Amino acid sequence: MWSRLREVFARELVVLVDPTNALHARRRKQLTAAVGTVFTLGMAAAMGVAPRNAYDDPLAPRIREAIRLPDLRDQLEQLTETDATFVREARMLRGDTIATLLKRLGIDDPDAQAFIRGNATARGLFALEPGQNVQAEVDQDNLLVSLQANLGGDAQSSRELVIERAGDERAGDAATPAYKARVQSVKNDVHYEMLSGAIAAGGFFKAMDDADVPDDVVAQMISIFSGVIDFHHDITAGDRFRIVYEAGYRDAAFVRNGRVVAVELINHNQLHQALWYAPDGGAQGAQGAYYTFDGRSMKRPFLRSPVEFSRVSSGFGGRNHPLHHNWAQHKGVDFAAPTGTKVMATGDGEVEFVGQQNGYGNIVILRHHSGYATYYAHLSGFAGMQRGQHVSQGQVIGYVGQTGWATGPHLHYEFRVNDVPLNPLAIAALDTPALTGPARQQFLAYSSELLSRINALRTYNVASINN
Ligand SMILES: [Zn+2]
Repeated sequence: MWSRLREVFARELVVLVDPTNALHARRRKQLTAAVGTVFTLGMAAAMGVAPRNAYDDPLAPRIREAIRLPDLRDQLEQLTETDATFVREARMLRGDTIATLLKRLGIDDPDAQAFIRGNATARGLFALEPGQNVQAEVDQDNLLVSLQANLGGDAQSSRELVIERAGDERAGDAATPAYKARVQSVKNDVHYEMLSGAIAAGGFFKAMDDADVPDDVVAQMISIFSGVIDFHHDITAGDRFRIVYEAGYRDAAFVRNGRVVAVELINHNQLHQALWYAPDGGAQGAQGAYYTFDGRSMKRPFLRSPVEFSRVSSGFGGRNHPLHHNWAQHKGVDFAAPTGTKVMATGDGEVEFVGQQNGYGNIVILRHHSGYATYYAHLSGFAGMQRGQHVSQGQVIGYVGQTGWATGPHLHYEFRVNDVPLNPLAIAALDTPALTGPARQQFLAYSSELLSRINALRTYNVASINN
């Protein structure tokens, strides 16, 4: 017995605790609460000493850091009592079968194996990606007590597969043990991850890669600034960014990235900042949105660029600048992008024309409020547009091509006011009204607390780099 225990310890014993034991569960909860309190106080102390300008220093080194809860396993191990079960973890490997996975978990239980094979819910285990964790609780006879695996989810919560031995049926007689499988929703630990960096000669996406910014977070950043920055034309070497986003973890394992909560971009020495805010913490179905740090909505009547800015389009020979002629000669701006790149309506409006026109090739013309109109030319195709149809800002209306007078695939974009073409790149982003009154007070209380926490994170990071 003891020699086998030692062997199990040496191999992969992680936690010795019986989750079905009410006493254990209570002590575990107390322990977690105690550690949580210490953590919160630590945060408060860090905020108190954070220099106010720490977050504003654009020359600070690029860092990656996250707030993590301390690992509770050491403490939990001390809760060992007799007749404990063993909790083990294994990673899903490519080519795993039920038998190989259970074997790695130290489970020798033909009944459990048969159950997993025959139960549709339990077979969800094999939808896991290689590398994902499976936790099993095993009794002293190497029989399965329970098994858990994270089936994925969003940043806030996970879908967790639970397979467990059902009640006392096994203890009763020598009858076949019964198992149950279910999928439950569990809350994740949500961390703030902060990344920062600078745009160098390699361009925007290279900078994002160098700073390890995940693709889904990059996409959010582009979208947040789509009213004020044209990523095709405006981004230059020397620009800097800092971004804070949510990442969901369950049992210390990454589940999924969530929303960008704050982001800043220094573009041509001009500071752009945005943070996510939902009035009343999102209560009563209040919609969240991105705001500048002083409480103006980031949503503008027109996007700065009609062409989806993606890894694909930016990879086009690094040509991020207008193709040919200056704007005065041809009354529009050209966006070089591969054929098929998505073209988006820059503002809410109505389709005035869809079809072919001399020189323009395939063209969509949208009519907007206040005498504004936008033209999208040389398209390779339309996204099912019909005259009179309403379109929303950001909606895909067609695809980049080179129909009409075009020497290569690009989008010719015009922005007109009462039929007079204006240079879309020269139009200052139309400002939106700021929050006022109690809504503004609430916003400022939220944003200052959030920025304090970011400052605390930052101070910690700089300290750890210097050590
Ligand atoms: Zn053109």
